[in-house]
Amino acid sequence: MPDLSKYTKRISEHFSNSRNIVLISHINPDGDAVGSQLALFHYLKSRNIKAEMIAPNNLQEFLKWMEGSEQIRIFISQRDKCRSIIENADLIVMVDFNQPDRLGEMEKIVTRSTAVKVIIDHHLNPKGFADIEISVPAFSSTTELVHEIITLMNGEPYYTKPYSEAVYVGIVTDTGNFEHGNYTGNTLRVVADLFENGIEKNRILDLLYNNFSETRLRLQGFTLNERMVIVPEYHTAYIWLTKEDLDSFGYVKGDTEGFVNLPLSIKGIIFSVFFIEKDGFVKLSLRSKGNFPSNEFASRFFSGGGHLNASGGEYKGTLDNSIRYFRKVLEENFEYFIRNNNFR
Ligand code: 5GP
Ligand code: MN
Repeated sequence: MPDLSKYTKRISEHFSNSRNIVLISHINPDGDAVGSQLALFHYLKSRNIKAEMIAPNNLQEFLKWMEGSEQIRIFISQRDKCRSIIENADLIVMVDFNQPDRLGEMEKIVTRSTAVKVIIDHHLNPKGFADIEISVPAFSSTTELVHEIITLMNGEPYYTKPYSEAVYVGIVTDTGNFEHGNYTGNTLRVVADLFENGIEKNRILDLLYNNFSETRLRLQGFTLNERMVIVPEYHTAYIWLTKEDLDSFGYVKGDTEGFVNLPLSIKGIIFSVFFIEKDGFVKLSLRSKGNFPSNEFASRFFSGGGHLNASGGEYKGTLDNSIRYFRKVLEENFEYFIRNNNFR
């Protein structure tokens, strides 16, 4: 773990000395992005520091109960207001991403800003577009890292109900409720402290995981039954959904969250890819086990990136072509990607 104290003094001073602070999360903000944004927001409020929060587009439905989430401005719904907030900012803190294209439509406005820019993130290969970059892939989640930073800034761990819930949501969602192997002893110590400080874990887990619609569950059944292909020779499974499929199940944002993980529960499958048809392009989610680098696969073939075992990307073209192209590059490159794999 790097020594975070060398950053926290500087950041703390920036928080104290800036007039217009904006906390920004990435496009399709997930529990970790929103959790990080809210944890910082609630902590700053306790220091009487005001901050605006902006997300490039809507939060996932199952996060909207979080205290303070209603104060996150959605760029695509309030373009002029958000633009003026960003242009007037003297401190911009970006959480849970390290590549400017994750800002969606806000990319140019943010990158052109003369504000001091801070990135707090846990992804690999930072693009280096901020003045202060705290980028630590050893953390399970950006929220866990934010909690460490706030602990150092505060001199002791900070706990209030909305703050603790934000930290817990970030950690739980980014670790798949502790199913993915990306958490450490430190993560569990943080969670233990949250429990001892009275977090209502059953209520929160219920809000995160038992909050789906009937149609979402049926869409999951349909996806596994009708839209999953196993490629045993490459220990790979892929699933896909067309726009028509989504429409016919009354899809709402967030409904397909988690689907890509399901094929990994099949014995022998170490690579799972989910294709979702969008307007003129296809969005991919990739998941892997062991040291199969799903992020390298995403960046080499699908202009994407992310973590070793969880990444994303896209394909410009039709769904059929994206799958054809995927099968081709999988076949041609499987031996390279499987090298040293400790799951085979
Ligand atoms: P998901 O499959 O849940 O949408 O994304 C998983 C992870 O992949 C995200 O946390 C993010 O790190 C990364 N990711 C998803 N989509 C993209 C993308 O288009 N570009 C990059 N660079 N990373 C992505
Ligand atoms: Mn994250």
